[in-house]
Amino acid sequence: MSKYALLFDQSLCIGCGACEQACQSEHDQSPHKPDKLDHESFTWVEDLGKGQYTRHLCMSCEHPTCASVCPVAALEKSEFGPVTWDAAKCMGCRYCMMACPFEVPTYEWYERNPRIRKCDMCVHRVTKDMPTACASICPTGATNFGSREAMLTEARRRLAKSPELYQGAIYGEEEAGGTSVLMLLTKSVTESGLPDTVPHEDLPHLTWSVLEKLPAIIPVWGAFLGGMYWLGSRKDAVAAAEKNEGQDHDE
Ligand code: SF4
Ligand code: SF4
Ligand code: SF4
Repeated sequence: MSKYALLFDQSLCIGCGACEQACQSEHDQSPHKPDKLDHESFTWVEDLGKGQYTRHLCMSCEHPTCASVCPVAALEKSEFGPVTWDAAKCMGCRYCMMACPFEVPTYEWYERNPRIRKCDMCVHRVTKDMPTACASICPTGATNFGSREAMLTEARRRLAKSPELYQGAIYGEEEAGGTSVLMLLTKSVTESGLPDTVPHEDLPHLTWSVLEKLPAIIPVWGAFLGGMYWLGSRKDAVAAAEKNEGQDHDE
């Protein structure tokens, strides 16, 4: 189990957007009001109407499918909780985007050297035992940070105290084998705009169970990945050549 987790309590969220602003500031992004997760919006507070809101962000899965399908191990789960992405390793295949059961990772489609972008659970803070920016700023206690054990205990306490307020389960306790973002929902998972079909099993285990049964695909797969890697390298070489050419013209 990860050391840390976030606990989002929908009943306490007032939709102020402070978490969005804190996240953007923490990641040197220009201030804006997101309307979805995208390359410069790592979290989005969705207005569900009638004074109710949902947060969207990377769920920081305990067994991340995004990392398990990445052929070059560009995504990695930290024992602290965050799932991080390494630009130096990524070859741009975007399998992580396709594999994520929560549809989180986004891509800088219009950049010359596009990156995979998503919430990194404020890895630079969490690995120093500091709370995430979004949890630090939240004025109502809707977003909380602490040990995963403590967040689960607190969520169970709130559920037991006010069962009429919440849906019966803690979203993220079991989904995809458990996540480092836990949610107490007052509306159903679907009404909250979250995926309600995520299996409770550890998905990388299922993924590899399937792949193990397809040995014939591996040579093709390897050739395909080799081609993708070559294209990525070629793209970087072209970008570098174009940059040098531009500098030559400027001189
Ligand atoms: S800062 Fe807290 S109350 Fe405000 S939108 Fe984010 S989670 Fe909701
Ligand atoms: S929510 Fe998606 S992107 Fe985030 S860790 Fe899980 S599989 Fe990866
Ligand atoms: S944990 Fe950090 S990166 Fe993720 S939504 Fe909160 S502030 Fe943004």
